[in-house]
Amino acid sequence: MVSIPGWAYIIIGVGISWYSWFVNKATYGSGGNPVMKVFFWLGVLFIFIGVAKIAAARFLRKTDPGESALSNTLAPRQPIRQQSVVLCPYCKGKTYGHGNFCHRCGGRLR
Ligand SMILES: [Zn+2]
Repeated sequence: MVSIPGWAYIIIGVGISWYSWFVNKATYGSGGNPVMKVFFWLGVLFIFIGVAKIAAARFLRKTDPGESALSNTLAPRQPIRQQSVVLCPYCKGKTYGHGNFCHRCGGRLR
């Protein structure tokens, strides 16, 4: 269940609800069949689950502090090779071009 992406839920939900609605209209007329109505709402539920999954994934990705916190803690430990000197775009100071971060302000160089 976790491995199924949100868009798959939406496609399944649209398929179930559209098919049950279509079959309901075609077979039972405007009155409808309660069993088909259950299938229709099941499809709507699947669409909601899919939308919720996509929204949750976006929310988690946006607020995930893992990458920035990790690179901040790793930055001072990176070996500094004094081979080329570049100007840091953040603090305008000279720093070493082979590091990923400015050794003065910690700004990301690449
Ligand atoms: Zn800097």
